[in-house]
Amino acid sequence: MTNILVYALHHEGTVNKNSLGAISTAAKLASELGGEAHALFVGEDVSDAAAGSVGAYGATKAFRVAAPAGVPQPIVDALDAVLSQGEYGYVIFGGGLLGFEAGGAIAARRGGGIGVEITGLRVEGGELVAERPILGDTQISDIHFRGLGVIAARLNAFEAVESAAGSTVPVEDVTVTLSDAAGKVEIVTRGEQRGADVNIEDAQVLITGGRGLGSAENFSVADDLAAAFGGTAAVAATRAAVDAGWFPYAGQIGQTGKTVAPKLYLGLGVSGAIQHKVGMQSSDAIVAINKDSNAPIFEFADLGVVGDLHAIAPALAAAIKAKKG
Ligand SMILES: Cc1cc2nc3c(=O)[nH]c(=O)nc-3n(C[C@H](O)[C@H](O)[C@H](O)COP(=O)(O)OP(=O)(O)OC[C@H]3O[C@@H](n4cnc5c(N)ncnc54)[C@H](O)[C@@H]3O)c2cc1C
Repeated sequence: MTNILVYALHHEGTVNKNSLGAISTAAKLASELGGEAHALFVGEDVSDAAAGSVGAYGATKAFRVAAPAGVPQPIVDALDAVLSQGEYGYVIFGGGLLGFEAGGAIAARRGGGIGVEITGLRVEGGELVAERPILGDTQISDIHFRGLGVIAARLNAFEAVESAAGSTVPVEDVTVTLSDAAGKVEIVTRGEQRGADVNIEDAQVLITGGRGLGSAENFSVADDLAAAFGGTAAVAATRAAVDAGWFPYAGQIGQTGKTVAPKLYLGLGVSGAIQHKVGMQSSDAIVAINKDSNAPIFEFADLGVVGDLHAIAPALAAAIKAKKG
């Protein structure tokens, strides 16, 4: 029997969407492997209702460890304790940096292997094979595991499917003796991500920052343009910018982000990759500023400006402000 353990990220009683996606996927795969999918909650205030709710997504059991949440060290100790109790072949994290950190550590501690940025999983020959995009996401590589297989998924890789709506599962409390390392880090404060509250789907004008912006700080160029337009203008980003940590995922346009259709889409340093295009091609007017005249975005832009965005965008913002008086 090969069970799969999923780390369930949660905040204020709500289980993270990506964790629910990982649970749904784990439940399907575990049944193919002849095992079960279980969820692990780590935190001081995890309610029965929150932990038990994963039954609706196919998990058959939830474990709860009372330890500080949000930092990797206690999670590694909690995973280690639960993995020691059962026949687990795999651990899945639904996405996010915690999966890289805690996943790498638990793989090392238990002599297993980790695959990160996983976008697909399948059962082959009685084992899980993880799919990972490589070479700038142009190819997919297969990862096979020796020993415990730890999978840190890419954000939004797995869809949360309520296969048993309303079902709840028993919640088992596990007492864990935390390692010394677990007490050395604590969350001092929790902040909101910049732009996380912006609903880019409702914006009439979207200023989209791509890798060409060059840094998180340079998103101020996009902010200034959006401010110049005013109204429902908002700032969004490509996946490259989001992956670089320059902009929150909530503002990502594309295949693994949001689909938008503003009156005006203005791309700053956006190449126009197909996975981005599918999320914005219905915009009424597409304007692109890119220094590479061969950038794919010019093939479907209504207006293309070839040049350095750092010179053009501030001048455009100033011109709009001047025109508005
Ligand atoms: C399964 C999968 C899902 C994906 N999902 C998404 C998704 O949801 N959304 C998404 O956006 N991408 C997605 N991608 C990634 C996508 O393939 C591209 O890698 C990404 O869109 C590229 O982002 P970018 O245009 O910001 O960066 P790049 O492709 O690196 O382009 C940067 C551009 O900036 C220009 N530039 C650089 N400096 C300047 C300057 N000073 N002035 C003007 N122009 C400049 C360059 O000429 C270049 O064209 C996905 C990929 C895969 C495989």
